This record gives sequence, structure tokens and C-alpha cells, in this order.
Amino acid sequence: MKSTQRTIRRSVACSGIGLHSGQKVTLRLRPAPADHGVVFKRLDLDNLEIPADVAHVAGMHYATGLARDDTSVETVEHLLAALLGLGIDNVVVELNQAEVPIMDGSAASFVYLVHEAGIKSLSVPRRFLKVVRPIVLSRGDKRIALYPSDHFKVTYSISFDHPLLRHQSRTMRMTEDAFVDEIAPARTFGFLKEVEVLRKRGLALGGSLDNAIVLGETGVLNSSLRFEDEFVRHKILDVIGDLALVGYPIIGHLVAHRGGHALHAEFAQKLLEETESWHVVESETEPVSELPVGVPATERLASS
Ligand SMILES: [Zn+2]
Repeated sequence: MKSTQRTIRRSVACSGIGLHSGQKVTLRLRPAPADHGVVFKRLDLDNLEIPADVAHVAGMHYATGLARDDTSVETVEHLLAALLGLGIDNVVVELNQAEVPIMDGSAASFVYLVHEAGIKSLSVPRRFLKVVRPIVLSRGDKRIALYPSDHFKVTYSISFDHPLLRHQSRTMRMTEDAFVDEIAPARTFGFLKEVEVLRKRGLALGGSLDNAIVLGETGVLNSSLRFEDEFVRHKILDVIGDLALVGYPIIGHLVAHRGGHALHAEFAQKLLEETESWHVVESETEPVSELPVGVPATERLASS
């Protein structure tokens, strides 16, 4: 069965602070037509637009940033994960600052915002990137790979030298409901000793226990966790947001170990370059052999 592209039904807004800048920012989502994609718009800079794609990735250390000319938008990953998780292909994201608000450090607020706006189906088929051969990227003990699968699945594992999160691993088939219930509420996390270093560099100025899990030497400083394995769930959220920059929802099994934004972005780039390892299809169940790579969607429609 084919699925069609989606946008939101009406414009919606929220306000919060930027994690790194600490400044107040207003974000507004506006409906967009089919094949528009997700595009950021800086209202404070002559409405300059920055598409959410691999070609505009910049600055990937503590969050994912996009840039065009001298202009950037920062910390886009949780919003992009929410849009992908809810199947929103087309939207304009207006900002009056350089950074997407961090909200509570998860994607829950953005899920709420999209639900408040309502979802609208468009009459153009959605296109998926279907993996047909493994794609693997290793950097030291960090690794990320995509394998053929009938569905979008994610396996993530993390290990840290900390008593609370030595090793966590989770595999999920990423349906819309699973994303909303199991992944979107998982908050970002950081170590208290790193927070102090970041602050000295002028970063994480907006960070607090209201928008991040903070780990001390032996435990968390927050009153409670939302899930026992909230940390690895948040890594799944991050990788979904970072790989959304590929421009198509993925059909394949993503397996990552000890990744971060920089590795996710490098992988997104590699994935797009390895064109023999995937096909673009218009249905999750469509047999890939019937769809040669590189044939425009209009021709494929005409011949089917
Ligand atoms: Zn994150």
C-alpha cells in the first residue's frame, strides 16, 4: 500500500530557550506543499531559508546544526526526529533566533505541537529510501550501519564509564505509536563535569535540570528518570533526527554503537553517496526489483 506525503493542518507556535545560547526563542510550524521538505526560516534575518538536508549540515559536536552562507540554525535534531516520527514530510519551521528551543530536552513538546496543529495528507506519494545492501561506517570503537529490512528498525547501544549507564541497548521497530510513546519523551543527558567545561566555552548556557538529565559521579541530579533506559532511548531519538537529513524516511535496520551527532552526520552523507546500496520506492512493501534507481517518480507512475 502506498502512503502519501503529509504536512500539518494549520500553523502552530511554541516558545522556549536555546540550550546553548540561553536566549528566548519562538518557533512556528507552518503547512507546506508536497515535495517542499522541511525548511527552516530565520525571521530575524530577512526570512533566510535553510533546508534540512545533508548538504547544509554544519557543526555537529554537542547538537546538530545547519548552515547556509553565514547563517545557521542550531539544535535541530529533536524537532526533526518528531517530524519524521510523525510522518510530517513538508513543513516550514520559522525561528526568530539561531536555535530551536530545547523545551524539556526531549521531542515530546514537538509531538504535542504537531498533534495540536493536526496532520494533513497530501495527494502525492511519499518516497522512501529502501536499503538493499549493508552500509557500514566505523570510527574506532564507534560504529553505525544500515541493513536491509522490511521496516524501519533501530538498534542502539551505548557504553559509558559511569555506574548508571555502563551499557544500555534497545531494538525497536519504529512505528508512529512506538515513536510517540517510547522514544519522543526521552530527554537529552549530560555529565555534570562536562557541563562546567561547556559553560566556560559559552555553551549550554540555557541548560538546567528542566531540560536535561544531569549525571553526577554516582547518579542523576534530577528527581527521576522517565524510563529506566532513558539514555539509550534518547540516542535513538537523536539518530532518527540526524538521519532525517537524508530527505527520505528509511526502510532498513539501523544498528549503532556509541554514536554521536558527528558520526550520525558522516553516516548520512555516506549513505547518500552509496547509491548502489538503496533504491527510492513509493511503498514500504513495494518489491525493489521493479523500481530501477534513477527513474523519475513521474515516469515510474506512468509505467505502473
Ligand atoms: Zn539529543
